[in-house]
Amino acid sequence: MERTILGERKKIALVAHDNRKQDLLTWAGYNRSLLIQHDLYATGTTGGLLADHLGVALTLLKSGPLGGDQQLGALIAEGVIDLMIFFWDPLEPQPHDPDVKALLRIAVVWNIPIACNLASADFIISSPLMNGAYQRVRPDYQAHLDRMRGQR
Ligand code: PGA
Repeated sequence: MERTILGERKKIALVAHDNRKQDLLTWAGYNRSLLIQHDLYATGTTGGLLADHLGVALTLLKSGPLGGDQQLGALIAEGVIDLMIFFWDPLEPQPHDPDVKALLRIAVVWNIPIACNLASADFIISSPLMNGAYQRVRPDYQAHLDRMRGQR
């Protein structure tokens, strides 16, 4: 089974829908000293607010509805992102719901830890695995890639 070694410094994606942005800002402010030990990525609006609130530089992607969720999904598929804090809104539909679903799906495909609410984010950020190396299983999809072989 293939594994990806995550070093001490992780690449963390931070995303929040509009109704959840304040929760993420509060959480990130409380955990600022832990978060700044890592490389932070965020969708455009979330990232701008976090940069102001935390006083740190983040890698800013496009705004979620304008392609930021898809950019993040691509970074996950490429093995760049190590974990994602994604406070999506469970009470309101979003214009980019297909992208939201795709982002959550690709994170599961590649076995990326995801926190979608405060309690999960607290558990992830306080995990001893945050401070050390971690061997994340990279799922083997060879059977999927080979499924049409011999039919050509
Ligand atoms: P935003 O995007 O940070 O640009 O608001 C968030 C999202 O909906 O994915």
